[in-house]
Amino acid sequence: MVKAIWFLILLGVFAWGAAVIAGTESSVTLEWLGYRVDTSIGVLVALTLVAAAVLTILYRVWTWFRTAPRRFRRWRQDGRRRRGYKALTQGMVAVAAGDAVEARRQARKAEKLLAEPPLTMLLSAQAAQLSGDDEAAGEFFEAMSEQKETRYLGLRGQLNQAMQDGDEEGALELAEQVADLEPKRDTVAETLFDLQVKKRHWSDAEETVRKSVKNKTIDGDVGRRRRAVLMYEQSIDAEAEGKLDDALQLARKANNLAPRFVPAAVRTARLLNGAGKRRKAASIIEESWVANPHPQLAQAMEELNPGGGAQEKLRVVERLANYNKDHAESHLAVAKVALEAGQWQVAREHLEAVAADQPTARVCRYLAELEEAENNDGDAARNWLRRAAVAEPDSAWVCDNCGNVTASWTPVCGRCGHFDSFEWTSPPRVTTYDGDEFHHGETIIEPAADADAETPPEGNAEAAGEDSASPEARPT
Ligand SMILES: [Zn+2]
Repeated sequence: MVKAIWFLILLGVFAWGAAVIAGTESSVTLEWLGYRVDTSIGVLVALTLVAAAVLTILYRVWTWFRTAPRRFRRWRQDGRRRRGYKALTQGMVAVAAGDAVEARRQARKAEKLLAEPPLTMLLSAQAAQLSGDDEAAGEFFEAMSEQKETRYLGLRGQLNQAMQDGDEEGALELAEQVADLEPKRDTVAETLFDLQVKKRHWSDAEETVRKSVKNKTIDGDVGRRRRAVLMYEQSIDAEAEGKLDDALQLARKANNLAPRFVPAAVRTARLLNGAGKRRKAASIIEESWVANPHPQLAQAMEELNPGGGAQEKLRVVERLANYNKDHAESHLAVAKVALEAGQWQVAREHLEAVAADQPTARVCRYLAELEEAENNDGDAARNWLRRAAVAEPDSAWVCDNCGNVTASWTPVCGRCGHFDSFEWTSPPRVTTYDGDEFHHGETIIEPAADADAETPPEGNAEAAGEDSASPEARPT
């Protein structure tokens, strides 16, 4: 609106100026190279304006033609880039969809159109991988690892390939490079750690854990526990090499880092005892018993007094149990040595303390032993053994990843390869019922095994009747 008003004002002023000039009785005479022009001021002004307008237009046209080739080139380049990006996107979609042929086609197209290797190499590598051409993929990854922008992706690709090929040495080397490049990426540190553990490079793995804690890619508690396990393993290696002082020092560190980690406490006590520090060894076991009572600790305590008879053992274990009086493991540890020492009354007291509602298999077995030994009561003993078969199984080291069960703790699960996955717990028991019988893990027992119940399970009266003559419990 304001512009329009200004335009009208200017137009008015211009018209007025033209009228004034046209109305003036003035003339201009131009003489140049023998030519003479007589005209009025108005015509001269009008001619000048027209000449200026024509020159401006000519200049514009000339400029347009002059820059045309450059604009044409840019237009073509833009078109190529647009098509290149489109090919890149479509290639990525093809990779995601698992279409190897299309992925390779688009990769080649993007390569040609974009001429920007950092952008297209990853797609080319993925496309090659997808079509099973690992060699070509490896070459792309290698080329990527040589460029600054794509170094991480290139090394990562090479690392994955090495792991797929089972080349642990190569993978470890690459993982170290990747971890140096991107120390704060948790997946990188985790891969490096797994490889170091696999190769049993315990101290390198410990260094990786330290860095991971520093970079906050793993929690401090997880870090302490892992370091404890790694130091425990280093202690075993040191002992094997005859470096007993180092072995003891490492075991103690492991025990301090993870006081609930039973193998470290047992190892520390054993090494201390070997170094003639029996009293110190006993106190390590006692401290550990307060934190986490475990049969292996009681066993280690017994071993600190090798010459003592059964009564002496009972006294030692009773003293240990006092550090965590009400714990079931305390009762069981005393019951075990009391049975060995023929102290029936002591054994019975401790077993009854833990047999109240759901006695575990171990309690049932000890009670069977007690009935047999103290009262010579074969029926009662058999009854307890039968109950042992259906009771909660004895605790063992169970892998929390794959359920693998082992008698002795190991740092890496032999079945699934997980690190520090063993927990001391009751193994899960698969109970199946095939219409005739319940199958509890390895033991086959009849439905109503712990009582002389007559009612067979619903719908199987006939089958159960046929089976009634068979023994009530039979281990396979
Ligand atoms: Zn496992």
